[in-house]
Amino acid sequence: MSEVEKYIKSIPDFPQPGIIFRDVTSVTEDPEGMKLAIDEMDKLLEGVDYDVIAGAESRGFIFGAPLAYKNGKGLVLVRKKGKLPRETVEMSYDLEYGQATIEIHKDSIKPGEKVVLVDDLIATGGTIEAAAKLIESLGGIVVKMVFLIELTDLKGRERLSKYDVASVVQFE
Ligand code: 5GP
Repeated sequence: MSEVEKYIKSIPDFPQPGIIFRDVTSVTEDPEGMKLAIDEMDKLLEGVDYDVIAGAESRGFIFGAPLAYKNGKGLVLVRKKGKLPRETVEMSYDLEYGQATIEIHKDSIKPGEKVVLVDDLIATGGTIEAAAKLIESLGGIVVKMVFLIELTDLKGRERLSKYDVASVVQFE
């Protein structure tokens, strides 16, 4: 397990009773935590052939941006519905209660472009699966999914078995 684990605070009963929230602000607020997080996510990209990074709103932006900068790539923003100014494509997906819709700009991914998807955390995998479908609807190819944290009991990795999923820190 990575040293970055010690910077992740676990908050019981947030946002609802019974949930342990894994807080990444305690990672980003610390200079050493932030550096470790980016460096270790970056290691997961070694040897990967890709054109662009796509980050999932909002914590995926925090980690996606420095990874894109470090590797000389652009960053595509996968945003919640209604935030992007140009023409978009959207995808809805189920949450535990209700639905959410995410969007990307229609011209942000070119057919055949190889995309790395980044988010802070994978739980059920629903969010990142919807993001992958959006990218694929534009002809993009999701070559890797990179997370700082993986909640293994929620089996996102199984749901996303057709993708290359990698994480720095795993919690049950
Ligand atoms: P999933 O769609 O995989 O079930 O949930 C992952 C999404 O919910 C990610 O965008 C992530 O930011 C957010 N999320 C769910 N649980 C947690 C948590 O414990 N900590 C953090 N930082 N984000 C969470």
